[in-house]
This record gives sequence, structure tokens and C-alpha cells, in this order.
Amino acid sequence: MSILNESLASKILDLGQSDEINSETTAPQNGQSYLRGANEPPLVYATIPQLLREAVSRFGPRDAMIFAEQGIRMSYYELDRAVDELAAGLLALGLTKGDRVGIWSPNRCEWVLTQFATARIGIVLVNINPAYRLNELEYALNKVGCKALVTARAFKSSDYLDMIRQLAPELETCKPGQLRAARVPDLRSVVVMGPDADPGVYSFDQVCKLGGPAQQLRMPTIDKTLNPDDAINIQFTSGTTGAPKGATLSHYNIVNNARFSTRRINLTESDRLAIPVPLYHCFGMVLGSLGAVSTGAAMVFPGEAFDAGQTLDVLSNERCTAVYGVPTMFVAMLEDLEAKPRDLSSLRTGIMAGAPCPVDVMQRVNDEMNMKEVTICYGMTETSPVSFQSFVTDTTQKRCETVGRVHPHLEAKIVAKNGENVAVGEQGELCTRGYSVMKGYWDDADKTADSIVDGWMHTGDLAVFDAQGFCSIVGRVKDMIIRGGENIYPREIEEFLFTHPSVSEVQVFGIPDERLGEDVCAWAVAKPGTELTGEELIALCKGQIAHYKIPRHIRIVSDLPMTITGKPQKFVMRDKMIEMLQEHGGQV
Ligand code: AMP
Repeated sequence: MSILNESLASKILDLGQSDEINSETTAPQNGQSYLRGANEPPLVYATIPQLLREAVSRFGPRDAMIFAEQGIRMSYYELDRAVDELAAGLLALGLTKGDRVGIWSPNRCEWVLTQFATARIGIVLVNINPAYRLNELEYALNKVGCKALVTARAFKSSDYLDMIRQLAPELETCKPGQLRAARVPDLRSVVVMGPDADPGVYSFDQVCKLGGPAQQLRMPTIDKTLNPDDAINIQFTSGTTGAPKGATLSHYNIVNNARFSTRRINLTESDRLAIPVPLYHCFGMVLGSLGAVSTGAAMVFPGEAFDAGQTLDVLSNERCTAVYGVPTMFVAMLEDLEAKPRDLSSLRTGIMAGAPCPVDVMQRVNDEMNMKEVTICYGMTETSPVSFQSFVTDTTQKRCETVGRVHPHLEAKIVAKNGENVAVGEQGELCTRGYSVMKGYWDDADKTADSIVDGWMHTGDLAVFDAQGFCSIVGRVKDMIIRGGENIYPREIEEFLFTHPSVSEVQVFGIPDERLGEDVCAWAVAKPGTELTGEELIALCKGQIAHYKIPRHIRIVSDLPMTITGKPQKFVMRDKMIEMLQEHGGQV
């Protein structure tokens, strides 16, 4: 690890004892739905490598990360060494500051190493959803021009390497690092996790050994060029208007958001934080891995993907003190715990977020999982992600019924359709402004301008503030489905289904689902003179779009319910579909 900038580094983790809880600034003034977060603790103008460096210098011998399924344990010292090795290897691949590198994998040790190694040399990490299929992978790689892709070999039914070979058959004949592929023209290197290389593909272990003294020597110089405002991470969020958008975040965005979210749950180096949420999402890689590093806590990854039983076993065996999850994960853990009790006496806190958190689930997590200090977070990828969160000292009622109070250094307001602020207690669209707002959508100035107006990120969520500044999320303005914590924009699926030659019209919407919160439904109309079946549409989706986006129910109809002005009435379709499913025992 290179030279330590002591004066700056010592401030990064030192959040001090200042108390933001009772700050008057977090309550609305003059009856207006406008909030300003506390000024304490201070923001740090720091990069991810600086954050890691300070954790290593303060907590070096302590556990940094444990990957239960892979059987890997690393101290902060070991993490630091492994990150430097990989960073040197990435330089040897010819990658330089500002280049984009994709990562496509479930939760594995290599994911976190790549996260910190890319940041170490200013490379922009591009998170690719492990559920993505060919169509989405191709889009993501090309949209941001990834020069390299670090990938798992396979996971469950997904053979990642096979999919990459379909996309870039040129790999068969090229030398590793010298790919020239027609469908992914910017991609040069594919790196597969594990010890074994493949034709045209480096192994992860090879890359870790590629860097020599020349690369090691370059690192301190590169370090000096890193700027907290640089883009360092791109996360794809599904777009309301079709293709996914690349939310681009800086060091400054995510370092500070990680610090403030873990501070609200009083995370310290004595904590052992279980992270069953996916690393490709900001919940895993900002609140999880960066959040842990910002406090010196140990990260405990129960498995490659979420499994309730496995997570509970690891919570108990590793004596975890905190755990993160989306509501459906907690529901599954509560069910599993009923069938097979575990000793969760070490648990204290955690975060539930990502989708509306039902009050009774919060109550049960509080009582049955021994998480007396569990908090809810609200936010979105575009705002680093967290903007609201409860304090562990809030009453159980407030912790269970609201998403808490605004984070430090942020402003939040609720606006009516005409853009005017609404009064306290009234609902409208939630907007947030401050250090946490993304730099923009990658290569998409128009969509950025639509979402961020005068610095305010328009969340598309409907919210209400109370007089003390607690926020409740009451609905969505945006046409989005949240299925088991995964956001799905109907438009993206509609556009994909349109690629079927017999589809003349199609509408995708969410219907309530007991287990997943919502599930995906589609109504389609066939072109005159053609035959169309739901099975055909499902077959079209398989292997091309992520499984969670594939409609669970499809109805082929002769026409769609429309308004007089010709707008499809999704609420009519939704109500009809719910009614039909009830009548037919869940099948149509
Ligand atoms: P993402 O960008 O994947 O983090 O998703 C952001 C969206 O998830 C928000 O715009 C909300 O619609 C939803 N969301 C996140 N947290 C919560 C929460 N605590 N309660 C209700 N909805 C939430």
C-alpha cells in the first residue's frame, strides 16, 4: 500500500461523537415538506483507496471478510495485499484510469477484490446483474464501452462463459487480452474467476500474478491522480423508457453514503456484518462492503446468492451482529427460523431496504431475530443509494412504520404534480439533493436532465413527511414493479416482447404476489393474421432477459383497455388479472 496521507486519512473513519439525532434541522420548517439533514458528521473529500487504507492502518489484523461458501477468510492486511496484487495485474492488462471494467458474478471474494482493485487505480467498475442474459449483457458492455470483463465461470443454471462465447466467438482464436469481437467492439480481456484459464480468456489467478515491479511502482503515481469526484462505479438501473441506464457514481458519492448509513446503525470494528444481499447492487457494494470498510467491521458473506437457511446458519456460526436484507429475504428467514430455530443472540442490528418494508415483518425481525436495533433505509441507486434511515434509538413504532429521517448533508422535499412543495402531511413526489446525487446516467444527457432538475433527483416515489421529519413511502409515481427487491421497468420488457414478429401491442404490469411482493404480468395482442401464444413469448425471453423479468402470466387478448385518448389502462388490466387469477386458483 502506498504512502499514507495521514492528515486526510485520519479523518475518514473518525466520525466523532457528534449527535445528529436531535438536530432541529431534520424537522420540517414552516409546515412545508422540506427537510435539511444535519451538518454533522462532516463529509470527507476522499477516495475509495483512502478509505481502505485507513481501515488497513487501523484494523489491519482484524477480520475483513469471510466468504462462508468459498471457505475464504481474510484480515484487513490480507485484503490490502490481495487488492494491490490484482490492481497491478489490471495495469499489466493495459487498463488505465477511467477505463470501464465489468464484473459479472454472484457474491464471491473476487467481486470485492475487483471492487477495491479497480478503485485503487481509478478504473470504473461496472456492475452487471448476475441474472442478466445475452441481450442485457451485450447492451451493458457496449453502452459503457467495457474494455475488460471479470466473470464467474458459471452459477446455478447460468453458464456465464458459454454466454460470453456466444457473444464473442472470436475468443476461441484470440490470445488472452487481445480480443477483437464484432458484437462487443471495446472488449479486449475476459477474466474468468478461479485458477483455470480458457481459450482466449485469462484466469483470475493469472491476472493476480501478472503485475510485477513496473506496475507496483506506478501505483503511488496513479494514486496522486485520483480525485474524489471521478466516476468510479456504474450501476445499471432499469429504464422507464426502455433500456437500462448506467447510473454513474463518484468516490465522493459512495464513500460518504457508506459512512453515513453504517453510522446510523452504530457499526464499529467490533461488528460482524452479514451481507446476503447481492454485491452487484448498491445495497451490497456500498452499504455492505464499503460500509464495512468505513468502520473496520468484518464482512460476512453467507453464500453466492441468498438462501435463507444458509444465511441463518452463518449468522449463528459466525456470531454476526448485523445483517442486511430486502423484505422478502427477512420473510424467508423468519419462516426458516420457525422450522429450525438458531441461536441469534449475537445479532443486534441491520438494515431492511429496497422495497416497502411491511410493519409486521419489521416487528418480527425485531423480536424473533433479536434485531432490537434494526433500521429501515430508503433510497435509490442514483442517490448513492441512501437518503432516509431510522436511528437505532427511534421508537419501535417509528422504526417499523416509517423509513426514518433524512441523512446528513442532504435536502429532501415533496412536490405536487405542478412542482410546488406540499404541506407537511400531504403526499407528493419525493426529491433529494446533495452530495449523494449521481454524476448522471452514462452517455445519456437527456435522461439525466429528465431526472435531475436544479440538482434535485426526482425519485418517482410518493412520500409523506410528518412534523418531526419522519418520512413514509406511500406509493410510486413511476411505472415500476418491485419483484422480491428487484426493480423492473415494464417498458424494458415491453420493448423486448415487441421483437416477436407477431406482437402488435403489449403491456406489462405488476400484480400483487404474497411471496415476492409483486410479480410480472403481460397482456399482448397478436398482429392480424398471425397466431401468438404465451408460451412462445416466454420461450423468446428465456436466455435473453433475466429470469425475474420474464412474465409469470401472459394473456393474449384481442384488444387492450384504453382511455379515450388511446392510453393503455394498466390498472384495468391489473384488476381484471387479479380477479381472473382468484377465480382460477392462480392460473389463467
Ligand atoms: P434501487 O435503485 O434498486 O435501489 O431501487 C430504488 C427504489 O426502490 C426506490 O425508488 C423505491 O421505489 C424502492 N425502495 C427502496 N427502499 C425502499 C423502502 N424502504 N420503502 C419503499 N420503497 C423502497
